[in-house]
Amino acid sequence: MSEDKMSGKEKTLFGQERNPSNIVPTKLTLDSRLKFRCHPGVSCFTACCGGIKIILTPYDILQLIKRLGIPAHEFLHTYTHPTYLEKTDMPGVMIKLNEEDKKCPFVTPAGCTVYTDRPTACRYYPVGMADFHEGGTRDGDEDAAKTATEDKFFFIVKEDHCKGFDEDKEWTIREWRADQGVDVRDEMNKEWLRLVMRRKSFGHQATLSDQAKRMFFMASTDLAHFRRFIFESSFLDTYEIDQETIDKIREDDVELMLFSFKYLAATLFGAQGIKIKDGKVQEKIKQIKARQDESVTKSIQEYEELMAARGQQKKGE
Ligand code: SF4
Ligand code: SF4
Repeated sequence: MSEDKMSGKEKTLFGQERNPSNIVPTKLTLDSRLKFRCHPGVSCFTACCGGIKIILTPYDILQLIKRLGIPAHEFLHTYTHPTYLEKTDMPGVMIKLNEEDKKCPFVTPAGCTVYTDRPTACRYYPVGMADFHEGGTRDGDEDAAKTATEDKFFFIVKEDHCKGFDEDKEWTIREWRADQGVDVRDEMNKEWLRLVMRRKSFGHQATLSDQAKRMFFMASTDLAHFRRFIFESSFLDTYEIDQETIDKIREDDVELMLFSFKYLAATLFGAQGIKIKDGKVQEKIKQIKARQDESVTKSIQEYEELMAARGQQKKGE
């Protein structure tokens, strides 16, 4: 891909939220060069760890709770705020900044206390990644999936206070990303991001039930809870899951996380990948129909209540 100007339609994916005027409007490739270095000797050291919105991906949360040695629910309560992802109705979390100074709770004058496990968004700066294939791809559409990957490009975010650009170190974007561990994070976040971008591309015409939103939030933020849902509900009686997968997701958090993305894609968007057991299909259809009937009955009831209230109002006029 050649380096050319970015269009206004193109958006960043889960980088720290930035003032668009700080984005250098040039598309970069993995081989483009970057002159930058951040280290404790820069005069602005840790200046960028405050006043920002840092969205956490499921993998970020997984790494941070391991680092801190606390369960997800405690981490969520202590260190995060709820938010919506990419201006959709998909619920997620962001780091809760200190009330008094609006700084990240993990920053000290000596630097980031969770540095090797810092979130994806912190690893990106100052190289953002954009993908103008916002809608994600249809299931099974391998060519489209490949094009979507190839449609990615990079750009520099240059903030006035950041002195890292005055340093002598020069690298390619590829080298920088590998050094920051962004490649691994991208791989881990990929399917989850695709869910969010898919939702974004559907807009608000398609509604997502509260139950679906709750499930997305639970699977994205608290894998221990999601594991209980798998092993302590009728889940394994309902879905066809092979024994190897069951063994893996019972023990391995990353496997469970990747499995949760598949499950969410199937339940939220009807993607192939997780199959309902034959005998259970009719049962599921009945459940869905019952839910729909319930919502129709509820809207009729709301309509009647509204009309009755209007009637009362007219009598009083
Ligand atoms: S502002 Fe730039 S150079 Fe300063 S600490 Fe942040 S990333 Fe490093
Ligand atoms: S997690 Fe670490 S790198 Fe990220 S904002 Fe907080 S202190 Fe800075």
